[in-house]
Amino acid sequence: MRDFTLKSYRSLLVAFQKAGYRFQTFEAFTEHPAEGKTVVMRHDVDEKAPNALKMAQLEHELGIRATYFFRIVKQSNVPEVIRGIAALGHEIGYHYEDLATAEGDMEKAVGAFKKNLTYFRDYYPVRSVCMHGSSTSKFDNRLLWETHQLSDFGLVGEPYLSVDFGKVFYLTDTGYAWDGGKFATRDVVENHFGLKFHTTEQIVACIASGNFPEKVLILAHTLWTDSFSQWTTLHLREFFRNNLKLLAQNNEGVAKLYKKMVNLYWKKV
Ligand SMILES: [Zn+2]
Repeated sequence: MRDFTLKSYRSLLVAFQKAGYRFQTFEAFTEHPAEGKTVVMRHDVDEKAPNALKMAQLEHELGIRATYFFRIVKQSNVPEVIRGIAALGHEIGYHYEDLATAEGDMEKAVGAFKKNLTYFRDYYPVRSVCMHGSSTSKFDNRLLWETHQLSDFGLVGEPYLSVDFGKVFYLTDTGYAWDGGKFATRDVVENHFGLKFHTTEQIVACIASGNFPEKVLILAHTLWTDSFSQWTTLHLREFFRNNLKLLAQNNEGVAKLYKKMVNLYWKKV
């Protein structure tokens, strides 16, 4: 069976529900964490925004509220998608990359951060933000928090700052695998639970066995699709991208080429 489709996504959500897990949005989890088994579904909408709406509809059918972090770039920032997801009762957050975009100019970055936050607040009273990894930039977007507080902007949570990953099990679908963390450069979280999964089926089996952690934060990007052609194209692209990323770690020429390609891809219109 193909993994990372809407069908496999549904099997994951249903497995949690059958095992008695409650779903919370990220802002609710940060402010009023539920007792007992709890899952936060976090979606970084890096691109393919229409896929996010399909995932949001599926969650809504199952009575689940999730959190969607949108970037300001056109591949993510699609007004009808953001509006549609907010209308389904999900949380909208800002997936910020302002320090990387401003090439490290803090003043410029803070100005852009405020402006973009205000923009997303037209759709939803945004109170959560989450950094975008910006893997090809030398600037870590989180440096913003060395000189500023979340509360300065009326915010309550940032997953990389507000979550104790010693207590909350973190899973991410980076590169179409649940163990693809080696391909991530910045969005890396230490695993304190001694659990490792490759496929969604393995996670579902672990949840059903009762050996899955009680508190879970799952990052699922928006590459999950039932379309065979998109699924195949994206799997091929991720395969090449992952290998290029690994090569770039040891080869400056490849790193430069990769950066150029990424910048071209995300160019704003
Ligand atoms: Zn991202």
